[in-house]
Amino acid sequence: MRTPINKMIPLSVVDGPGCRTAVFVQGCNIACAYCHNPETQRLCNGCGVCVSQCPAGALSLSGKNVIWDEAACTQCDHCIRVCPNYSSPKVRWMEAAEVWTEIERNMPFIQGITVSGGECGLYPEFLTELFTLAGNAGLTCYLDSNGCVDFTQYPGLMAVTDKVMLDVKAWNFQVFHRLTGGDNSIVKKNLKYLAQTGKLYEVRLVCLEEASSCSGPPEDKEVDMEEVIAGVAKEVRPYLEEFRLKLIAFRNFGVRGRMETRKSPLPEQMEKLKELAAACGFKEIQII
Ligand code: SF4
Ligand code: SF4
Repeated sequence: MRTPINKMIPLSVVDGPGCRTAVFVQGCNIACAYCHNPETQRLCNGCGVCVSQCPAGALSLSGKNVIWDEAACTQCDHCIRVCPNYSSPKVRWMEAAEVWTEIERNMPFIQGITVSGGECGLYPEFLTELFTLAGNAGLTCYLDSNGCVDFTQYPGLMAVTDKVMLDVKAWNFQVFHRLTGGDNSIVKKNLKYLAQTGKLYEVRLVCLEEASSCSGPPEDKEVDMEEVIAGVAKEVRPYLEEFRLKLIAFRNFGVRGRMETRKSPLPEQMEKLKELAAACGFKEIQII
């Protein structure tokens, strides 16, 4: 089964423990207002807008398909900036075995692989095949997920997955829906399932500046950070020592749309959230 791959980072130290190869799939099932890689959200629809704008002449159209000449490409990313569809013409459709062939070259330097996106959970068969190959070679296999695909439905994938890094973007349904267009009941189900099965590596929360929060009811906030921290702690209390909470300060790098001019939260605000998390019982809390 061919899967759209946005890019691969051969050696990454920010996508899980140790040095890992990170694979980014194309396509997402939600659309976060603060997404920092929006060009991974949609599949190319062949509109052709980017083709004539490539300064290197690396793009052409064949019917409704964009052809990307990787050798001619200078990686200026102008095509991504002009794409009106939150997509990229540089996506490669690859079999799991082909992805594995590229990863295998990094074997002397890596401890594992992480698949991110977009949303990796949209491609469970691809993941199962890739993780089986990587696991057999002695690598650990991590997923980086928005949690909006129900992992309980894919026991075969879970059997070959070591750990999951799970986004919990909001706790209140209305807040989550406004922020992402999605439904967080699946995220909460996954949170519990992954904690209970020992598969949760970290929970991640993107934090906005305080001014964009408000003193009103939680459902009126843009991101209900305090409610996420308290909600996760309550939901999986017996497992709080087994995973890390990562508090990510919003940065507008790469963001498009209503949040692209937003400021980052102040360090003092992040420290306050960390204190709240510690009071809620989290043991390992990281601010980035
Ligand atoms: S990144 Fe895109 S616009 Fe830039 S040279 Fe490559 S294909 Fe062309
Ligand atoms: S990558 Fe974007 S701009 Fe280029 S053809 Fe596809 S949808 Fe159109």
